[in-house]
Amino acid sequence: MLLKSQQRYSKPQTSLFLFGYVVKADIHFVKIDDEIEKPKIVAEVKTEFISLQKSLFATMFKQKLINAFQTIIKNKYFKGIACLFILFVLLDLIFPFRINPNYSTLITDSEGKLLHAFLNKTDKWRMETELNEITPTLEKAIVFKEDRWFRWHFGVNPFAVMRAGVKNVLTGRRTSGASTITMQVVRLLNPQKRTYFNKFIEIFRAIQLEFHYSKDQILQFYINLVPYGSNIEGLKSASILYFQKSPNVLSLAEVTALTIIPNRPSSLRLGVNNPYILQERNRWLQNFKEEKVFNAQDIEDAMNEPLNVIRHEAPHLAPHLSLRLKQENPTKSIIKTALVRHKQLTIENIVQNYVSRLYAMNIHNAAVMVINNKTHQVEAYIGSADFNNPIDGGQVDGIRAIRSPGSTLKPLLYATAFDKGIITPKTAINDVPTNFGGFEPENFDKLFHGKITIEYALANSLNIPAVKILKEISTPVFVDKLKKADFQTVKKNSSKLGLSLVLGGCGVTLEELTNLFSAFSQEGNFQKATYTLNADTKSRIKNEIISKESSYLITQILAQITRPDLPNNYDYTYRMPKIAWKTGTSFGKKDAWSIGYNANYTIGVWVGNFSGEGVPELSGANIATPLLFDIFNTVDYNSSSKWFKAPENIAYRKVCAESGDVPNDFCTHQIVDYYIPSVSKMTKCQHAKYIYVSRDEKISYCSHCLPESGTVQKLYPNYAPELLSWYESKHILYEKVPPHNPKCERVFNTNAPQIVYPVDGSEYFLAKNENQKLMLNCQVGNEVKTVYWYINDKLLQKASPNTEVFFRPEAGKIKISCSDDKGRNADIYVEVKWE
Ligand SMILES: [Zn+2]
Ligand SMILES: [Zn+2]
Repeated sequence: MLLKSQQRYSKPQTSLFLFGYVVKADIHFVKIDDEIEKPKIVAEVKTEFISLQKSLFATMFKQKLINAFQTIIKNKYFKGIACLFILFVLLDLIFPFRINPNYSTLITDSEGKLLHAFLNKTDKWRMETELNEITPTLEKAIVFKEDRWFRWHFGVNPFAVMRAGVKNVLTGRRTSGASTITMQVVRLLNPQKRTYFNKFIEIFRAIQLEFHYSKDQILQFYINLVPYGSNIEGLKSASILYFQKSPNVLSLAEVTALTIIPNRPSSLRLGVNNPYILQERNRWLQNFKEEKVFNAQDIEDAMNEPLNVIRHEAPHLAPHLSLRLKQENPTKSIIKTALVRHKQLTIENIVQNYVSRLYAMNIHNAAVMVINNKTHQVEAYIGSADFNNPIDGGQVDGIRAIRSPGSTLKPLLYATAFDKGIITPKTAINDVPTNFGGFEPENFDKLFHGKITIEYALANSLNIPAVKILKEISTPVFVDKLKKADFQTVKKNSSKLGLSLVLGGCGVTLEELTNLFSAFSQEGNFQKATYTLNADTKSRIKNEIISKESSYLITQILAQITRPDLPNNYDYTYRMPKIAWKTGTSFGKKDAWSIGYNANYTIGVWVGNFSGEGVPELSGANIATPLLFDIFNTVDYNSSSKWFKAPENIAYRKVCAESGDVPNDFCTHQIVDYYIPSVSKMTKCQHAKYIYVSRDEKISYCSHCLPESGTVQKLYPNYAPELLSWYESKHILYEKVPPHNPKCERVFNTNAPQIVYPVDGSEYFLAKNENQKLMLNCQVGNEVKTVYWYINDKLLQKASPNTEVFFRPEAGKIKISCSDDKGRNADIYVEVKWE
């Protein structure tokens, strides 16, 4: 039960039930202090009551209470009141008061300031004033003007009703002088014709409102619903649209102006009748002065304040994120984002200026997302170069658009391989033409680089090494990593993805990529960044996608400044904070990516056309990276934060410079490399092999034909067949093992020819009208002079081992065999289709 008392709480035991009347289901005391005019409510009085109970005095007090209570319930008036109360509760259940204020959606920045406002469903500005925006000045002005007994009545002020009734009878006119703030709220929520019956309903609804809501909430409703003319409702809407500020920072003069307008919203139009409003305002300020509502000096100052307002547009900043969050939270009236206003606005500007410079190249759009790595919140969100440019699809949200990632997934791939222990940064890998079952990737520069390190392959974004590593760790393992990092389109299409995945053969968004790279700054822990403050952290995905060691290795490689994907015009005078970054360019030059991070921020940049049109000049290095650098320069300029520390389980070791493996006795050129103890493989280097040769180095021998004298043991490079084949085709000189002893009688079981192309078990599609042919290519030992090609066991051609043979196959499955002059043979099967 809510009991209202107008007594000081120092004597609650005598006054409690005498002055109070039963209205609500919980206890609600009101304390009035002579000095403090504002009534103080509930809690402290309650605590006092409980603590009293604990004392002996409390026991006496309790007994008195019980006695008083018993007297009351015996009283016949009380019985009447109790019946009325029960009737009211029943009516309240049958006719519940459903309130749907239908507020405008407001989007605020990290400091709670308004960034963007949307009209409500009925195209009105009805912005919700929050409780903390209702200042004592505002409350005092409204309560003094509208309903001085607001804090004390139960929705209806019986004295005012009686007074109005008498007045009506005497004058014969209906006036509305008896309306309390609560009743006005009822009328604003549910406007009805003025009849006595409706008046009765209004009274019932007002009591209902008081029954279910606190006084603060009712005042809040009033403030949010009062009309200001045109389509402006609620004091906050007026405050924002006319004064361009939140209600909590309004001056006394502004507050007074805003409290008088709702009485006559059509004649008191701000911006239209300013002189008249000023006059009315000062009349009310005079009233305030006479009744001593505010400090006299404050009133004096307020009276001298000019009133020169006009109506402004509602703010429409950060349009893409605002629109997105409104759609995602249709019932929220205020959405508090983590966007940092000055960063958002500065970057919006940078992006717009940057893209306008690219216009001549037919590049029309860009999108940028900035994650604060410490808070996991998004501080800037730029969905396009210009939201208000419909020609270039300005309203498209480039942060959520599904695009091809180009090379941007490679860091995750190599990180996974570091964790599998199969590579370290200095591991050698061959960047030579390779056919992966019909898939023949090329590099961006259309060149092959021969034997290189993993580090070089990643820093230079080479394609063949990436596909080789993906093949080794297998596509499903990599797809699983991407799923853990919440890549939605990858999740959806996971069964259809193949090796081309790591070269951009899948769909990603800038949002997904930026979140992924943020995980590299978090020791490999993925945590999706949120857009709003106090976002629900439980439902947030948190996954360790790679180890901290592996993360560190990737970061070190991506932070190297000696790399080819620096912008052409890269100027070392850039006062850049140190960052790690990766670029990407999608197939057909449709998307340019550059995503960078340090301990403070992860910034993702996409540049391209929403139309999907490719542009020859578009590249991650030259088009997206300069923008990334610009933004890092702005957001993190002069940052004091330190670079990432190596985790404990990262160690150095000496490796063979030729292979990146643990040095063998013949590995003279050794370099230092990182490795992850107990994870990285410890393979001994096999970059060379000892061979017995004649003194003139013209003939080589095996253990079967090794003569007793006249030979020497010599070290020869031990290259993979694919690399030898590439050296041959490029006429690159290398030290060859001399031909094998022609008199050797050994049957060569090992070292049979290897068919390099076509690839065993593959399907080949040949174009009929282009009269395409299939190429045959093999690798054999140095001792072999001639090879014999067979198709379905029929001799096709005799050839030298290094010659490529072409033929036109029949459609269907065919067997291809290659025999060498030592009688060793290899068979493969392929399927040929003509289209
Ligand atoms: Zn070696
Ligand atoms: Zn031999």
